[in-house]
Amino acid sequence: MQTNQEAPVDLRSLLPEELKTLMKELGQPAFRAEQIFSWCARGAGLEEMSNLPKDLRQRLAEMAVLHKPEILKKQVSRDGTIKYLFSLRDGNAVESVLMRYRHGTSLCISSQVGCRMGCTFCASTIGGLVRSLTAGEMLEQVIFAGLDSGERIDSLVLMGIGEPLDNYDNVIRFIQLVSHEKGLNLGKRHISLSTCGVVPGIERLAGEGLPITLSISLHAPNNALRSAMMPVNRTYPIEQLMRAARRFAKETGRKVYIEYTMIAGQNDSPAHARELAALLRGMLCHVNLIPLNPVEGKRQKSADTSAMARFAEVLKDCGVTSTVRRKLGDDIDAACGQLRRSSTKKETL
Ligand code: SAH
Repeated sequence: MQTNQEAPVDLRSLLPEELKTLMKELGQPAFRAEQIFSWCARGAGLEEMSNLPKDLRQRLAEMAVLHKPEILKKQVSRDGTIKYLFSLRDGNAVESVLMRYRHGTSLCISSQVGCRMGCTFCASTIGGLVRSLTAGEMLEQVIFAGLDSGERIDSLVLMGIGEPLDNYDNVIRFIQLVSHEKGLNLGKRHISLSTCGVVPGIERLAGEGLPITLSISLHAPNNALRSAMMPVNRTYPIEQLMRAARRFAKETGRKVYIEYTMIAGQNDSPAHARELAALLRGMLCHVNLIPLNPVEGKRQKSADTSAMARFAEVLKDCGVTSTVRRKLGDDIDAACGQLRRSSTKKETL
């Protein structure tokens, strides 16, 4: 474990077993590891860890970092959705969105600063990728959104800024941290990961034995259309993606969610619906039909409600279940695909 000053230990990214190793190196009893882990999960600073000896706290202050993000901006929507802009240690910032549903509170978190996937309809990718987040930085969003809102966060979606499977190791570590019984103890079954279709990542994830939910951002039922909308499809075409998704469903026994953002005149016809149904035949899955949230500077428009209803009807006739999703937080630019753009704009003012 690195304990030199150039590379300080990121305390919030460490699992209890790793904290135990650190405690051993520092000549401390093993039980200190759990104490530190549970303080970190509650958002405490080193100075607040009152059951640790002062000299240990001092030693940790010298060799480790425990970043407390600032809430740079907080917007509350008419529907109760809250969008947070959190500061990171290096001056970057990321957004998280807290949504209240009848069945509980869900937090949508970011996994990267920016994104390099280049989907044509998404605001998060406009400035490209700045960097990936550490596991601790993903955990910070959960801890501090929970503390600020006073809400118990029941479920998590990795659907904010970034492509989680482009930050694979840190995302897996984050899932272990946030679900640890000595920490926030959030059930893995209540965690969803959404990908634009990074096939090797999906295949690796299927082998992890994690009972999380996988969402695939499909958005188009054929390669020509999908490649035009999502550059990732040129590397991992639909056949490969669907094979990986089916394997995930089979190996985990868990339903895969197919995200389908509806763009007027582009992917919203009954013929597209039939093509989609054929692609999904026999697969354990559910389709979410999402209205496109218009992104400034882009011409695409959302399909209208009647086109969406018709699309859902065709899917139903072909034996595929779907839900037309509501928009939450669109009055505060917190809806899908809109994160970061407004805050980035603010930075450049
Ligand atoms: N990179 C991951 C997760 C982040 S995006 C992924 O692609 O799945 C979360 C979801 O919002 C994805 O389904 C994405 O395609 C969708 N999305 C992006 N821009 C959107 C927009 N303008 N309107 C509606 N959905 C959008």
